[in-house]
Amino acid sequence: MGLLEIFDPVAAPRPIGIDLGTTNSLVARMRDGAPVAIRDCDGEALLPSAVYYDERGQVIVGREALRMAPAHPRDTIVSVKRLMGRGANDPETARLGTIDFAAPTSPDEARTVRLRVQGRILTPVEVSADILRRLRELAEDEMHSVGGAVITVPAYFDDAQRQATKDAGRLAGLEVLRLLNEPTAAALAYGLDHKKNGLFAVYDLGGGTFDITILLLDDGVFQVRSTGGDSALGGDDMDRALGRVLLEHMGAAEDASPEVVRLALDAARRAKHALTDREEVALELPRMGGGTATATVTRAELERLVAPIVERTGVACRRALRDAGIEASALDGVLLVGGATRVPFVRRYVRDLFGREPLADIDPDQVVALGAAIQADLLAGAGSTGEVLLLDVLPLSLGIETMGGVAEKILPRNTTIPAGARQVFTTYADKQTGFELHVVQGERELAADCRSLARFTLRGIPPMPAGMARLEVTFHVDADGLLTVKAREVTTGIEQEVLVKPSYGLSDEEVERMLLDAIDHGEEDFERRKLAERRVEAERILIATRGALAADADLLDASERKAVETALAELTVAVAAGSANLVQAKIDALDDATKEWAGRRMDRAIAHAIAGKQIDEVDATVAQARGVDEQVAEHQARLPPGARSSQTGPTGEGS
Ligand code: ADP
Ligand code: MG
Repeated sequence: MGLLEIFDPVAAPRPIGIDLGTTNSLVARMRDGAPVAIRDCDGEALLPSAVYYDERGQVIVGREALRMAPAHPRDTIVSVKRLMGRGANDPETARLGTIDFAAPTSPDEARTVRLRVQGRILTPVEVSADILRRLRELAEDEMHSVGGAVITVPAYFDDAQRQATKDAGRLAGLEVLRLLNEPTAAALAYGLDHKKNGLFAVYDLGGGTFDITILLLDDGVFQVRSTGGDSALGGDDMDRALGRVLLEHMGAAEDASPEVVRLALDAARRAKHALTDREEVALELPRMGGGTATATVTRAELERLVAPIVERTGVACRRALRDAGIEASALDGVLLVGGATRVPFVRRYVRDLFGREPLADIDPDQVVALGAAIQADLLAGAGSTGEVLLLDVLPLSLGIETMGGVAEKILPRNTTIPAGARQVFTTYADKQTGFELHVVQGERELAADCRSLARFTLRGIPPMPAGMARLEVTFHVDADGLLTVKAREVTTGIEQEVLVKPSYGLSDEEVERMLLDAIDHGEEDFERRKLAERRVEAERILIATRGALAADADLLDASERKAVETALAELTVAVAAGSANLVQAKIDALDDATKEWAGRRMDRAIAHAIAGKQIDEVDATVAQARGVDEQVAEHQARLPPGARSSQTGPTGEGS
């Protein structure tokens, strides 16, 4: 244990950084300007991510829990991180042999995995919260009060997995200041952010997972360029390889009981650790049928066993480099993360693979937590120290309001920044000469429920038929989190730009409340959005059909005309009522009633056109006869690849 610290009762609570790992977790904090891992009363910094639930409701976390695992496999949960944010029907859930999964009884329940432990139902979020609670206690033992936490997550974690991690933090009574990508945390621990620019590979070999991340540092901000790895590759595989050899020494190579296998695996792991610093270890192993066997394992023998395992990481590394579009020689540094990178063979392999000596002077199983502590300190003290905030993902989605009040997301939340995206919209009304753009932030489906960031109007567009104008909206978020929105009407080249600060004035609590709201209202929002969209579509069809009746009613016989008029009236009624499905059904009915008529109208339009008109006018007439929809589709077909098109246009000012 370190020096005894004198506790200042009036000092503000200090924040902590947490690495919530698959195999091991740990907590760190800043002391005298440097990050340090917090140790338990045995002087151990690593807390095995294992939780044992006993029959009286007691919860035991860490080494103690691991000791219970062989005797109580179903009541000891390990590797719960693999289940975070996953649904009950996710294939990953099938990989964890000893867990008793509770079958979902409703679609709602199927959204998260549920575990049956000692007659209780637990979610992965609750199990993770138990680990986090233990870490919080460790921190409080040393610091008295804890002021917020940064928790790390793998760079590839999606929304649901991140949200689940955040929920676990809150459940453990922690104020989650931010989630930080594990490779970014490692880079911070090495102080790479001070370099301002560079390309780095973070090679993370843990107990059961391998992750490779290519990070771009651009003006002090980290951006994930590519991620890859293998979710079933790690130090445990080395233990199994050596364990098989040890079982032979024990005379139990065939049909060994689970207890004997566990014994061999434990001995293998101890030997593997020892061989990191020594050339040779001698092991005392029990022999089947009595007595003990002494086995000597050399580092060379271990290396021969682990080589095929380690070589599998090379495939993922080369792919990650390719995905990032770079050669290994373009890297400014390679970082070693994860306990298994202690193995000397791994270090040599990484050096040969990337053609440079990797950075390894910070303890690889602490480096992520240390980086998280640095980030937590920055966040808590930001402003006072004048340090730039490291903002590597968007906290909430950014988008614009489209017809019917729907919020169209252009940059989804958790996008790594800096980032840009473009989307093309078209006009809704004929002769629309202006577009009002409403920029919104949030996860809800309707703009009215999101946070309004800015409104601006793009004017001076010459009158065009509905669907003809092509409005290109570009969002760009820079390294400081500042959003620029640019709107350009493509056919005329008229454009306008506004600068918006998206997260200004939005506290983390507000972000959280908005996220929770979106979860609470998810289904209801979806319904409302669908209804809004169907109504816009219905209005368009009503207008088009009424126009066609005025022009070409003579192409209908009496009964057809009656059918069209009935379908029109029913669609009008449906639009006024509140069901998206009903509106859709009536749209379909009207489509049916007008199908043959539309063919006749098309023939007439072509006949007219050929009777002495210019060829380009023919095109226009044909397009008109076909209706707006296909016209839009034709224009959209000419959009550059990658730009997503939308048929619903921003609310127009009209003509
Ligand atoms: P995770 O990120 O999955 O939680 P860790 O980074 O804590 O995992 O890595 C755990 C792995 O590191 C285990 O397989 C463990 O045996 C291995 N490990 C820890 N220390 C050493 C060492 N000194 N030598 C070799 N392997 C080690
Ligand atoms: Mg890890």
